[in-house]
Amino acid sequence: MGYIEPAPIKDKENPFESMMSRFNVAAQALGLEDEIYNVLKSPYKQVIVSLPVTMDDGSIRVFEGYRVIHSNILGPSKGGVRFDMGVNLDEVKALAAWMTWKCAVVDIPYGGAKGGIKCNPREMSAGEIERLTRTYTQTLIEIFGPDRDIPAPDMGTGPREMAWMMDEYSKSQGMTVNAVVTGKPLVLGGSLGRTEATGRGVMIAALSAMEKRKINPFNAKCAIQGFGNVGSWAAKLLNERGVKVVAISDISGAYFNDNGIDINEAIAYRDANKNSLEGYKGAEKIPGDELLFLDVDVLIPAAMEDVITKDNAGKIKAKLIVEGANGPTSAKADAILKENDVWAVPDILANAGGVTVSYFEWVQNRLGYKWTRERVNRRSDRIMKTSFNHVYEVSQQYDVSLRIAAYIVAIDKVSNTYKYRGGF
Ligand code: GLU
Repeated sequence: MGYIEPAPIKDKENPFESMMSRFNVAAQALGLEDEIYNVLKSPYKQVIVSLPVTMDDGSIRVFEGYRVIHSNILGPSKGGVRFDMGVNLDEVKALAAWMTWKCAVVDIPYGGAKGGIKCNPREMSAGEIERLTRTYTQTLIEIFGPDRDIPAPDMGTGPREMAWMMDEYSKSQGMTVNAVVTGKPLVLGGSLGRTEATGRGVMIAALSAMEKRKINPFNAKCAIQGFGNVGSWAAKLLNERGVKVVAISDISGAYFNDNGIDINEAIAYRDANKNSLEGYKGAEKIPGDELLFLDVDVLIPAAMEDVITKDNAGKIKAKLIVEGANGPTSAKADAILKENDVWAVPDILANAGGVTVSYFEWVQNRLGYKWTRERVNRRSDRIMKTSFNHVYEVSQQYDVSLRIAAYIVAIDKVSNTYKYRGGF
């Protein structure tokens, strides 16, 4: 009985309900018909699988896996696979819906999906993770496909896991099918620029919003929660454009330096220190939560869901929040931020650079041709900038927050497409 995992200690709002409450406001503003509302709110397919895996000690352990396809109205469904102890059906459902809205906001031809396995990859060997990833792929083989449903990395997964998924899928087809997953290693058909794509998109979204809010990047201070792929790339790229990053954090705590943190040094430290900032000397260590309430211009939550809640939103001093993570602000916090005139560039816009370059990876795989890094960056920057401007205009037109405007743009696009395609 040694394998019963403790329940995750998270007192969070139900993420699917959080997503739905924004969806409802946007649907109302658009005057969405009840019939279409019902279609768009219901996930198209939800699959739960049990995954028996032989552990290194010879024992067999059963993991729970999920894949939710929220919508395939715009095209094959797209979305990452998360390996984390907090994974549950409601979370995966919300994340899948966010992918639908995200792809629609940046106008790429995909529906939305998300997958996950409840596991702690930090406590598993590479071999155990490989067997788990391959079993997951095999068990869901009918779901995946380059024209059906295309996984990608998310929390706890990366190019290594994508390579295993691609290989396992390819074996089942008797040929190499690299377009079945994105975020692959370069040698397997990954795209240049994919690794930094989400952080780069966050940078473009942040600079675009700063322009509208009249914040000069060269005088701006920024705090970034989370120093994984998204947070560290956003920090590096914003820093290169003049923004002073005064605080960063990871699971080991938060690090503050009012004169600005040397981001390249912090990244090098993390990489040489088992992926952790623990012991980083370039800044003063402060309690993790305090990072959110620092006197900065821009706050970038790039770690996990529900970190800005109704209980702490009132303490935020930043004028601008740019959501690198999915769902970092709970629905109940929205009103408090609005009251205090804090703008939030929502996740479904701010972190869409990742899936945009995933789309480019898929396009390149299908063309059998490789784009240069410059082409990838130029095209994704343009998509991020155009999408931001569109959402901003809609927020002015409807007199709503950027978040609700982004939902309006997305729901309008998906519902119109549905009308053209027609129901059964
Ligand atoms: N997991 C990432 C996201 O939440 C990327 C998804 C993808 O590239 O398909 O946007």
